[in-house]
Amino acid sequence: MAVYQIVEIGADVLREKAKEVKEINASIIKLLDNMMDTMEDAEGVGIAAPQIGVSKRVIIVKVEDVVVELVNPVILEKEGEAVAEEGCLSIPKMTGDVVRAAKVRVQGLNRQGEMCDIYADRLLARALQHEIDHLEGILFVDVAKKTYRS
Ligand code: ZN
Repeated sequence: MAVYQIVEIGADVLREKAKEVKEINASIIKLLDNMMDTMEDAEGVGIAAPQIGVSKRVIIVKVEDVVVELVNPVILEKEGEAVAEEGCLSIPKMTGDVVRAAKVRVQGLNRQGEMCDIYADRLLARALQHEIDHLEGILFVDVAKKTYRS
């Protein structure tokens, strides 16, 4: 268990395409645990591995009491459109209005290595899309219609 320093905008790791995880081993489990600790410490609703400096396709989203941990996540279906204000742990003091799909179906592996199918809407759908963007090196400020300083 460890809380990491969150990597902020300007760092190269946030702009790389993160690498696919070949095998869920002890180091991936430890990565998930460290990401969870770091996200909870920062009171975020989601985190992607590049945000703690690890260029691997691993994300966690926690909305209300629902925790989704996914390795190699892929968006299989998108439906509708919704606009809402987003922030990012890697971009302090800024928010922005971002258009996302209203509903998504996402597939990925859980920490047991089982393939999971997640059907999400509202904030969970938004957070999953935001975190999966991180794995492509995309930040919300790249796709926001409008940004605000807070
Ligand atoms: Zn983010």
